[in-house]
Amino acid sequence: MQEEKVWQAVLGEIEVSLSRGAFMTWFKNTALLKSNDGLIVVGVGNVFIKQHLEKKYGDQIITTLKKQGIKVTQVEYRMLGASHKRPVDQPTQGPADSGAANQTAQLGSSPGFAAKQAGAGNNNLRQGLNDRYTLDNFVVGDGNEVAFAACQAIVQRPGAKYNYNPLYVHGGVGIGKTHLIQAVGNAIKTRNPDAKVLYIATEQFVREFVQALRTRTTAKFANYYRSADVLIVDDVQFIAGKDKMQEEFFHTFNTLHQADKQIIMSSDKPPKDIAMLEDRLKSRFVGGMTIDMQVPDFETRCAIIQTKAESHQTELEPEVVEYLASNGQTNIRELEGALNQLLAWCDVRGLTATVAIAASLLQVSKNRPKHLSAKQIIERTARHFQIPLEDIVGPKRDKDIVVPRQVAMYMLHEELHLSYPKIARELGRKDHTTAMHSVRKIAQESQMDTSLRSAITEIKERLYA
Ligand code: ADP
Ligand code: MG
Repeated sequence: MQEEKVWQAVLGEIEVSLSRGAFMTWFKNTALLKSNDGLIVVGVGNVFIKQHLEKKYGDQIITTLKKQGIKVTQVEYRMLGASHKRPVDQPTQGPADSGAANQTAQLGSSPGFAAKQAGAGNNNLRQGLNDRYTLDNFVVGDGNEVAFAACQAIVQRPGAKYNYNPLYVHGGVGIGKTHLIQAVGNAIKTRNPDAKVLYIATEQFVREFVQALRTRTTAKFANYYRSADVLIVDDVQFIAGKDKMQEEFFHTFNTLHQADKQIIMSSDKPPKDIAMLEDRLKSRFVGGMTIDMQVPDFETRCAIIQTKAESHQTELEPEVVEYLASNGQTNIRELEGALNQLLAWCDVRGLTATVAIAASLLQVSKNRPKHLSAKQIIERTARHFQIPLEDIVGPKRDKDIVVPRQVAMYMLHEELHLSYPKIARELGRKDHTTAMHSVRKIAQESQMDTSLRSAITEIKERLYA
């Protein structure tokens, strides 16, 4: 009890000195386990947090404890909760999180979990919700902390007037939108099992609606969705251009909103940028809270990797984590893909993951099997930036042509590993140093510039779709 109070005071002080993201990531699930004549034991959620606290926040923690009048000679960080043994050693443990239990079972039965992982949790569907996604296993940091905070507020008071209703989160592919909005649904359901929480991917929504039209059951369809307490619509951009569906959704939206039912939507872009979306929907969508999600920063990416590794009962060396987090994956899904690949590869061979293994695997996966041509990449890039193909390979030097051209060069380098002279030729340049300069510039700027980074991700996704 005493410990708890002391720790709350310490946390309170540390919280004001850090960004919210950093605080949530590193200190959210910590506790003071023991304070005994100078020996302090701090409980932490996982090994990565342990290492990070020791390395980066150790001194600050000691100073802050001392300020509270606590004698400190030694601080130990200890992992809380579940043991970190291999799954075979703990066959029938009953963890609180059934999603983790499923993964454990899968892991135990076969080493090919990376492949199975993709379909994991399909049997836990409850009205579209997958309990693999929780707020607890969502790592908070720069890029997603605002969205996370909004979601927490919604879990406290779903549908509350003037609050976050509707909540509209948007951002590039693979950055955690689905995870987050699913997690809200799960959290609301946990707090209030009677709540009717419906999650629907928009493509499914549209298919169901078309089916209802065909079988003349649109009233039933409408009633079902209009009776929700919480309606979560994922990838709502896919409603664009579907007139009847938009009409239907408009009414469902209004019915729910007027009844103070919570509506949550995700999309790849803000409402104003969705072409062929009715104006009345656009204005409804921005009537609550609109939040832009970005790829999390490096530290947060590290924490995500470590969390994911732990859900596979694996601890990774910090260097491996850092290598993965800095190795060019432009979104979390890719990052997770690289991690799963690494874990599966090592698992089958009974090896411990190292930077060298990670590097060689990632290199192989860079030479993706699909045959892409330079022309396809250039065309796709031009289309993305909505400029004519003649311009991107032509002589113009306006800024809105030059940047797409540089991006195209970067893509040729990253995806096809073409030489600089060849890249220059493909884009109608004579001098290979132009290509070299452009590739470096984009590589550098995409570290900082999130909109550039998401442009690259989007072009890639389209190319490999
Ligand atoms: P989106 O819907 O934006 O395309 P997803 O929600 O499907 O992205 O996320 C892709 C993968 O990355 C999922 O497996 C998800 O669990 C994981 N992920 C993304 N962000 C986080 C995060 N902050 N913490 C933990 N996992 C994350
Ligand atoms: Mg999604």
